Amino acid sequence: MAAVAAEFEYRRPGTVAALIADMAEPGACALAGGTDLVPLRAAGALAPSVLVDVKHIAELRGVHANNDGIRIGAATTLADLGARVDPALDAVLDGARVVGGAQTRERATLGGNLCRSSPAGDTLCGLLVLDAVAELHSARGTREVAVRDFFTGPGRNVMTPDEILVSVLFPAGRGGSAYRRFTYRRWMDLAVVGVAARLAFSEDTCVDAAVAIGAVAPTPLLVPDAASALVGTACDDAAIARALEPVLATAAPIDDVRGTRAHRLRVLRSLTSDVLRLARARARSRPPAH
Ligand SMILES: Cc1cc2nc3c(=O)[nH]c(=O)nc-3n(C[C@H](O)[C@H](O)[C@H](O)COP(=O)(O)OP(=O)(O)OC[C@H]3O[C@@H](n4cnc5c(N)ncnc54)[C@H](O)[C@@H]3O)c2cc1C
Repeated sequence: MAAVAAEFEYRRPGTVAALIADMAEPGACALAGGTDLVPLRAAGALAPSVLVDVKHIAELRGVHANNDGIRIGAATTLADLGARVDPALDAVLDGARVVGGAQTRERATLGGNLCRSSPAGDTLCGLLVLDAVAELHSARGTREVAVRDFFTGPGRNVMTPDEILVSVLFPAGRGGSAYRRFTYRRWMDLAVVGVAARLAFSEDTCVDAAVAIGAVAPTPLLVPDAASALVGTACDDAAIARALEPVLATAAPIDDVRGTRAHRLRVLRSLTSDVLRLARARARSRPPAH
């Protein structure tokens, strides 16, 4: 483990341009809510020499919708997201509402959850099924990376040390979505298994689907074969049962202190069924997809 720097410099840029300039310095590290960063630094896993606070820049805060879709600033807190009612974002909002406790969510941000890239991060399966895109900025320019291509391993992703996540972009909402996780305690526990789904219907037929699983592989994962098993069906119980097979085949859970592999697979089966039924009910209560 890296040695913890005895001292660090704290910066509070007020514009994206100033933030990018600060992040270009060697040893710079973005600070959002600090709910991951502070414990990681205390454990010696991070040793930043410059902490660059991202929370005081207007472009990094708030939720903005237009005809093309929705943009969420990276430093928007999970408490702010959890308080919203927005059926186009349900799977992410469900995740935001269960992170830590109320105090954690007042500090923690969507961008921090994504950049931490934990396999058990509670907003990440929702980001996957909603086809979210990360907007990354650095002194070298701007790039957009689909969240499905973002994660490279447990706690790892495609970002370079000088890059900043400015926002998360969502295409215009299609269908209904949901996220649920299994934990032993109701609050202040990490997901043993997490599942998100999105379903869109035309009349009674499913025309679009996405299923993502968390805490059962090195990264949160989409399961395209589960989506294929649902499209063209009514998403009845028989179709849901068929979708479970690729979900269970894709999962690669480990034995750890929070559950054995066998237990996680048992939970994954029932949780996936429940989440698909909830997404189906939500999709049917929304206007049809076009
Ligand atoms: C008590 C407790 C309970 C928790 N429970 C849960 C839980 O149930 N579920 C869950 O998913 N997580 C949980 N967490 C982890 C944590 O709260 C979340 O991952 C949270 O979303 C992190 O957001 P943050 O704003 O605090 O990130 P920070 O700690 O500020 O940052 C996390 C990482 O992301 C980087 N970063 C942050 N923002 C940006 C940006 N805009 N651009 C570039 N890099 C950036 C930082 O440099 C750092 O490496 C818990 C943490 C605590 C302390």
